[in-house]
Amino acid sequence: MADFDAQRVAKGLRAFAQSRLSVGLCHALNNGGNVAKKMCEICGEKPATVPDRERMGRLINRVCSSCHALRLAGDMKRILELHEKRRQANGA
Ligand SMILES: [Zn+2]
Repeated sequence: MADFDAQRVAKGLRAFAQSRLSVGLCHALNNGGNVAKKMCEICGEKPATVPDRERMGRLINRVCSSCHALRLAGDMKRILELHEKRRQANGA
């Protein structure tokens, strides 16, 4: 009987660990419990982990790492485009 209960509890715990609720709970606990976790200002889905570099002075985490990475990728694209334009201008 005790074995049966233990199995049921273990199964329940596994299901809970895999659920989205436990993920949210972990975020809340990591954040001190009662403080609302600041979400990314760009996607609003992930917790903000890096400050918005465009708001200097107050380094508050505003964007999540994936949006930050996307931004960096956008920078790279701009730089490459600029580089290409300069190369063409010099060649002409
Ligand atoms: Zn984001």
